[in-house]
Amino acid sequence: MSWSHRPSISRVRGGDVALSILRAARNLALAIASLMPGVAPGASPADPYAEQRRSMVEKISATARDAAHETGRSALSERTLDVMGRVPRHRFIIPGDESAAYDNRPLSIGSGQTISQPYIVALMTDLLELNATDRVLEIGTGSGYQTAVLAELAWQVYSVEIVEPLARDARQKLSALGYDNVHTRVGDGYEGWAEHAPYDAIIVTAAAMEVPAALVAQLKPGGRMAIPTGERDGIQMLHLVRKREDGGIESTPVLQVRFVPFTGKGEARRR
Ligand code: SAH
Repeated sequence: MSWSHRPSISRVRGGDVALSILRAARNLALAIASLMPGVAPGASPADPYAEQRRSMVEKISATARDAAHETGRSALSERTLDVMGRVPRHRFIIPGDESAAYDNRPLSIGSGQTISQPYIVALMTDLLELNATDRVLEIGTGSGYQTAVLAELAWQVYSVEIVEPLARDARQKLSALGYDNVHTRVGDGYEGWAEHAPYDAIIVTAAAMEVPAALVAQLKPGGRMAIPTGERDGIQMLHLVRKREDGGIESTPVLQVRFVPFTGKGEARRR
């Protein structure tokens, strides 16, 4: 009995030695990392925004908790938060404004338009519950930031923008970052993009007065659409629209929001 214990005791001791070597190696690595100025553990020196992005994700989670009484969801999925922690938002900001890139607020991107608040980008992405095989239609490419977030989670992203210079800039940025599953078009998103329909998910990032019929038609049965509706300077509501398998529509109000108005055929009226 006592003999049979000996080998196991020596194995435990061997394991202890291996563990303490591993711990020493890890501590040494951490000590070296802490000597490198301005580099957060886990960040590469080539990514000076890693720490700001991590802090932005914390703010998004805090805002999600604060808004839970309205949205009914106190937390966003790990997948969404993980992507928000990876996409370089500073690459989609007007040059010179990068220091504000990871603030949890919208910023001007020129042409009278804005890049949406990070929490809203995260919430709308979460509502779509994207799968890696999904085809997504986005109306309002704007800076291209939301497009990049979608492109990380879905198979193909089709994005329509009505302001030509914005569409051109976004296309260049997305291509420079290697998003080869993004397809952009200049046009009025009120008509959707029929050529590539039907879509598993649709996201609209400008406020229309009502959900455009063409977008409902281009959504797959079982598909989801996140869309703000309401007057241009009035109360707008972000809705989650689901298309049932029988083609019927269910719309759920999620959160009061403020988006730039839809222009073109779906122009939000001023009352
Ligand atoms: N997701 C973008 C949001 C940009 S703001 C971002 O985070 O950067 C909304 C965008 O919708 C603007 O760029 C605006 O030009 C665009 N837009 C407004 N009406 C449109 C329409 N009818 N068709 C396509 N894009 C439209």
